[in-house]
Amino acid sequence: MLIVKKFGGSSVANKERVYNVAERILEDYKEGHDVVVVLSAQGDTTDELIAKAKEINPNPSRREMDMILTTGEQQSVALMSMALQNLGYPAISLNAYQVKMHTTSVYSNARLKRIDAERINSELERKNIVLVTGFQGINKYDDITTLGRGGSDTTAVAIAAELNADKCEIYTDVDGVYTADPRVVKDAVKLNEITYDEMLELASLGAKVLHNRSVELAKKYGVELVVRSSLTKAEGTIVREECKMEKMLVSGVAADKNVARVAAIGIKDEPGKAFSLFSLLAKHNINVDIILQSIGRNNTKDISFTVPRDALEDTKKILQDNLSRISAERIEYDDSVSKVSIVGAGMASNPGVAAVMFESLYDADINIKMISTSEIKISVLINEKDTDSAVNAIHEGFKDRF
Ligand code: ASP
Ligand code: MG
Repeated sequence: MLIVKKFGGSSVANKERVYNVAERILEDYKEGHDVVVVLSAQGDTTDELIAKAKEINPNPSRREMDMILTTGEQQSVALMSMALQNLGYPAISLNAYQVKMHTTSVYSNARLKRIDAERINSELERKNIVLVTGFQGINKYDDITTLGRGGSDTTAVAIAAELNADKCEIYTDVDGVYTADPRVVKDAVKLNEITYDEMLELASLGAKVLHNRSVELAKKYGVELVVRSSLTKAEGTIVREECKMEKMLVSGVAADKNVARVAAIGIKDEPGKAFSLFSLLAKHNINVDIILQSIGRNNTKDISFTVPRDALEDTKKILQDNLSRISAERIEYDDSVSKVSIVGAGMASNPGVAAVMFESLYDADINIKMISTSEIKISVLINEKDTDSAVNAIHEGFKDRF
């Protein structure tokens, strides 16, 4: 069997953890399997490298940022290889350049295009345990790129897809995917399985277990993922196309605080206004999420929408500069909001799910500012300070249905 295993930064944070992971790797290797391991930078290394860079230059170029950040992963694979060799097993570390992991050219948020499997395969033939740097790639200029924060998951899935691996295991410091963040909700439960679509929603909603592009890739290439802990032997959560059991009515509650609400007030109530507003934002690569339009009165209407909070400053500037073009009287902003969502593949065929969610929020005396729904998701925008109590109230409301 060919097994791809990915370990996150906390799983390899120190000497003890490195050896713990080495043992987990060897369990499979000793059984005669081919093992490719993708590693993240140890512990807080990436954050520390960012701080270090900003100490030198508060606005470092993205190219140089990628150059420094990728050293974190390079340390991890070298150290792991040394640990395995020290235990008497053959191992070799490879970086993105040595493997040849081709990405698009954008620094700091590149996308993987193609991986040459040749080097990895030849190392496996030599019976080496192959340790590959996560998070990094090379672009057409032979420069080093990174895949965005949390990108090592994506590296692992891409390698599993390219090598046609029999298993792709993502090891982290939690037992798997939970119905809610266990730090926020005491009785959150671990899911045995979840569909790609549900996981994609949860990942992009701020459940930080998996990089969402890794789930996209897994879905595209049909790579079944297992998310599990490097610290326990618990089974973990399987992420796949279809779950064996009946579709979950609700598989999770997630919160996202990286949101801000923007309202364009007094827009002319005539065709083409929404288009001019949102095409403007699209042109500047601003991701708009929930959109709400008021009923027109006195020939004007209001359009409110959410953007990622870290895009609020850009959004403000773009809208202020184009007030007359979008024919708004003024723009209002609110950056103390959060988005709380429930996700479940069974929602589409079960009426009444929204009602349970709204009732839970009402019982907790939490006001809803905006609502949006899709086939497998319902999101509400609320005051940021209510986030944890909303997640708890909703989780409680669906307690018997997980
Ligand atoms: N080390 C990188 C980060 O901290 C990539 C990863 O952990 O997946 O974002
Ligand atoms: Mg991660």
